[in-house]
This record gives sequence, C-alpha cells and structure tokens, in this order.
Amino acid sequence: MASLQFTFLGSGTSMGVPTLGCHCAVCESTDPKDKRTRPSVLLQYNGRCVVIDTTPDFRSQALRERLDRLDAVLYTHGHADHILGLDDIRPYNLKQNAAIPVYGAQTTLDILQRQFPYVFSDTPTETSVPGVELHRIDAPFDLFGAQIIPVPAMHGSGPILGFRIGKVAYLTDFSMIPAASMDLLRGMDHLILDALRYTPHPTHSTIENSLALVSEFKPKQAWFTHMCHDLGHEETNAKLPENIRLSYDGLKFEVAL
Ligand SMILES: [Zn+2]
Ligand SMILES: [Zn+2]
Ligand SMILES: [Zn+2]
Repeated sequence: MASLQFTFLGSGTSMGVPTLGCHCAVCESTDPKDKRTRPSVLLQYNGRCVVIDTTPDFRSQALRERLDRLDAVLYTHGHADHILGLDDIRPYNLKQNAAIPVYGAQTTLDILQRQFPYVFSDTPTETSVPGVELHRIDAPFDLFGAQIIPVPAMHGSGPILGFRIGKVAYLTDFSMIPAASMDLLRGMDHLILDALRYTPHPTHSTIENSLALVSEFKPKQAWFTHMCHDLGHEETNAKLPENIRLSYDGLKFEVAL
C-alpha cells in the first residue's frame, strides 16, 4: 500500500517566530519548537515531492529537509508569506531539466503572474528564471497517482484553498469554512488547521475556533499551524486536548494513502 510522508516545512505566521525586533518570552525562547518559519508543508508519496506553498523561507526549509527534487507546487492563496519563495525552485528546474507544474485557483495564478512578471515574460533573459507550468484548480484532480481534493474556504473576504489527500487535510489561512467544504473535512486521520492565536483576528482562525472545529470534524489527530508569537509551544500544548497539538517546523508523520 502506498504511503504519504507529511512534513511541516514551516508552522509560523506571516512574520515568522521570532518576530523581528520582538523580545517577548516566545520570541526569546530557547525551545527549537518556538522557532517557526513561514507556513508550508511537504508531501512525499509515490517517489514524488510536492510542496504546498513556497514561502520566503522555502530555500532554508528545503535545505533543512534535504529536499532533492521538487515535482509540483500547490498554492493555497497568493499572500506574500505563501508565494515569495517561488524564485528558489530554479535549482530543481536545472537538476530535473523541466518546468515544475504549479497548481492554484485562478485568483492565485493571477497574483503569481502579477508578482513575478519576469517568470511569465516571453522576453529572453540572460539569467535563469523559474520554469513553471500553470494549472488552474477548479475540481479534484489526480497528481502522481493520488487524488487531490481542493477545500475552498474564506480568509477574511478573500478565497483560499485547503487540500485533502487521502485521510489528511491541510487548511491554513482561513476565518470561515463554507458548508460545502465542511463535509470534506470530517473523519480525517490528520487534520491541520490554522490557529493564529487566542485573540480574534479578521482573517485567521483562533485556538478557540479551531478547537470547536476539531470537535465537529473528529479527526484522529489534529495539528494547529500558522501560529504567532502569542503561543509558546509547550505552554500551549499543555492546555490542549491530547489529540490536538501545535505543529512545529520539521514535524513529520506517515499515513497510508
Ligand atoms: Zn499566511
Ligand atoms: Zn514576540
Ligand atoms: Zn494569507
């Protein structure tokens, strides 16, 4: 039976933890699990390596995880903390001698083309530019022998996509999950949810809100992500139910696909 190895490349909010210039207890913590790079995950299955989002920390994340190949990128949305590492896929273009397929909603593909005009320009360049092949997501699709199910949600007033693969669902950067997506998230083995902090935020889920969602969706294991410096790793985990934990950079699990 095929298996999926799932790795948290980054588990932090857009500014990362520690946050520049901040000297709070979490930013000053010596616990490696309190060091959070920007949010992204790596899916390895059927000999392929797929990342969800390319953060500004993509290069250091890929070095840390010794990522030797990159077969596709799935984008959740076009915010800077999720896309700005796109330029760093170039070594994989060169090594694999191929463009890398990139999947996202049309709104996200539009943002990529606006933010990285040189990637999509037909004008010859004297330097290397990322080679990408854009694929619009508007329904579940097959990727290297596994079905990827998009899970639309709202991030404030903007749409984002979560992704479900087998019995794992990853949903970051959301504040509201529409009814049609709720059924896609029930009964997972692993459910990963945005939980920025305790206090409400206009575009992100909170610990309280995501706790309520876990009660509703009943995964075997839930992981929170996109945390800011309000949440110390050990201190927050101590207050959470046993099947819910804060994720951390480098966390891995394996599941049957
Ligand atoms: Zn984000
Ligand atoms: Zn801080
Ligand atoms: Zn965002």
